[in-house]
Amino acid sequence: MPKYTRETLKNLLDGKLPFSEVKVMMSSFKDPERFEMMLEIHQSRVPWPEKILLPLGLHLYIVLKENGDRVVKCDCGYEFGDYRKNWKLNALVYVRDTEEKIAEIYPKLMGPDPRWMEIREYYCPGCSTQLEVESVPPGYPVIFDFKPDIDAFYEKWLGKPVPTVE
Ligand SMILES: [Zn+2]
Repeated sequence: MPKYTRETLKNLLDGKLPFSEVKVMMSSFKDPERFEMMLEIHQSRVPWPEKILLPLGLHLYIVLKENGDRVVKCDCGYEFGDYRKNWKLNALVYVRDTEEKIAEIYPKLMGPDPRWMEIREYYCPGCSTQLEVESVPPGYPVIFDFKPDIDAFYEKWLGKPVPTVE
């Protein structure tokens, strides 16, 4: 089983590895320390003290608050609330539902027909970073991407208790 250095994992996170190497990493079994090493790298890069329980997206993490709550937090520090609720409902959203708005990002006739599909862009209220984009039929419910079972993940997959407040 290949074991990767912290430097390699940092480069993986930053998109600096050649695809051929990434492909091998994706296709092989993960070394058992990988998750913790990645978590340490994430933790060392955020400016706030709360412990990261799980990365949730490119800029989002589920973190453990002092009172034991688990909340979704952006790397800028903005908190979206309880991880079991859809963080998108507390994000800024820009909906491209007209030909004019779609033409801002797609060449003419290359984008979706707004009668059939709209593009929803979600932004962090704290730092304005674009966090997620979904394209769905108009009226479709806001997609809840991921609600992990954190306790089961730690206990059954990592074989250790989930971090709690000391
Ligand atoms: Zn932010």
